[in-house]
Amino acid sequence: MATDTLASPAGLSHTPTKVMKNFIDGEWIESATGETFENRNPADTRDLVGIFQKSGKADVDDAVEAAKRAFTKWRLVPAPRRAEIVFRAAEILIGRKEEYAQEMTREMGKVLKETRGDVQEAIDAAYYNAGEGRRLFGPTVPSELPNKFAMAVRQPIGVCGMITPWNFPMAISSWKLLPAIVCGNTCVIKPAQDTPLSTFNLVRALTDAGLPKGVINIVAGYGPEVGTPLAEHADVRAISLTGSSAVGRIIGGIAAKSFKHCSLELGGKNPMIVLDDANLDLAIEGGLWGGFGTTGQRCTATSRIIAQKGVYGEFVERYVERAKKLKIGNGLDEATEMGPAVNEKQLLTDLSYVEIGRNEGAKLMCGGNRLDKGEYQYGWFMEPTVFSDVDPKMRIAQEEIFGPVVSIIPCDGMEDAIEIANGIEYGLSSALYTKDVNKAFAAIRDLDAGITYINAPTIGAEVHLPFGGTKATGNGHREGGIGAIDFYTEWKSVYVDYSDTLQKAQIDRGE
Ligand code: NAD
Repeated sequence: MATDTLASPAGLSHTPTKVMKNFIDGEWIESATGETFENRNPADTRDLVGIFQKSGKADVDDAVEAAKRAFTKWRLVPAPRRAEIVFRAAEILIGRKEEYAQEMTREMGKVLKETRGDVQEAIDAAYYNAGEGRRLFGPTVPSELPNKFAMAVRQPIGVCGMITPWNFPMAISSWKLLPAIVCGNTCVIKPAQDTPLSTFNLVRALTDAGLPKGVINIVAGYGPEVGTPLAEHADVRAISLTGSSAVGRIIGGIAAKSFKHCSLELGGKNPMIVLDDANLDLAIEGGLWGGFGTTGQRCTATSRIIAQKGVYGEFVERYVERAKKLKIGNGLDEATEMGPAVNEKQLLTDLSYVEIGRNEGAKLMCGGNRLDKGEYQYGWFMEPTVFSDVDPKMRIAQEEIFGPVVSIIPCDGMEDAIEIANGIEYGLSSALYTKDVNKAFAAIRDLDAGITYINAPTIGAEVHLPFGGTKATGNGHREGGIGAIDFYTEWKSVYVDYSDTLQKAQIDRGE
């Protein structure tokens, strides 16, 4: 599916650069703008992973037109047949898992173990949604009236637009595209400009599995130039964004004006509570994985650890010792535990929060510095950073950083911990470490978040359960599982009156 390749720069042994056009109506099309942009490896910016089209509104218009044409046929393909293509794509992805994981690590920076997991999530989503093709359940209910049949069926919406972030480049594209096409919609997707290749790889697997032309179209480019016209397009009947709350406000505002379906999966500032009775070894390992996995660049990252005073001192000491020992480096090296920030801007944001935390009076326990010597000099690396004695109202405890910066906050007990956990604008994920089942269930009830983990960190979703959050984390929709099917279908209620008489609902009650 790559339309061209370039040789690697001297001194680098990586695979060649991919030159990708947009994918519209099953064809490879150059952008009308005539411009391109580069996709570089954040662990080694000498490595040019790909060159992509820097598209604009005219390309979006062409892609939507193609999706609209494809919809007239795709909507009539029986859902189980549509789903078979998705099932075959899962099998193809299994065969290409290592290749796609390697490419994802090059474009995004996260370690191979995690990019393999990202591809696996797309495989899981494909199997799950393939199964949905034989369900797409709707209610069949008794009618109020005699000789009348009542049911509701799901219908596709039409052309759906998708805008994705860079941190789960294949998984998040799969969460959106796969349920959408199984439900009979056609799609135009704008992948994140930092990681477009993985979306192309996913769509390549679907195309090789037999997806007809025009059902999925990819337009690469930047948010305001491609994402905004996509959201604004009158023929796009549903728009799904995963990204920051700031961009969510823009897309939500656009969608509201034309009443189109709009799903927003946005930021997080996720708390992990450690009570005095917790298994501390488990909590420390969980907090490290949750805080520094994906270099802290997960919407569900464990960015706040709220520890009860009885274990606070020991937790901080042991957590910091372990954080200092994490092996930072290029994610292509199997021994690496934490990769770079995705780009320079994100690294500078992370470092700016170190300054903010210091100025607010939090105690910097480890890290805080950029790594730019030796093997690090060509990448966007920084040390795993831990602040202790953090006040819940400090900016480092309130604002999403999206980097390897963890704030540890002391608390008096369960009630205090829940208040701190809930005292933010976001509500994505949350976690509690305790051996007390009563406290666990009280936390499940009281934590104001879309996800609660007990004795596990805040990260790590499974595709068949709803995924999303409360407050500024979104607008109430959920991806994953049945939530996605609900988003990508319109309900139609159907009444069949076989009484051969005019029966008036609520009026003819035989009284
Ligand atoms: P971002 O909001 O900067 O960008 C997300 C996408 O929106 C990108 O494709 C970008 O090009 C596009 N975009 C940017 N400005 C736009 C505009 N004006 N109009 C239309 N589109 C625009 O986010 P990011 O930096 O790519 O990702 C990090 C953010 O995503 C974090 O806030 C993180 O919490 C969030 N995220 C949320 C979830 C979730 O499911 N809740 C999952 C992953 C990431």
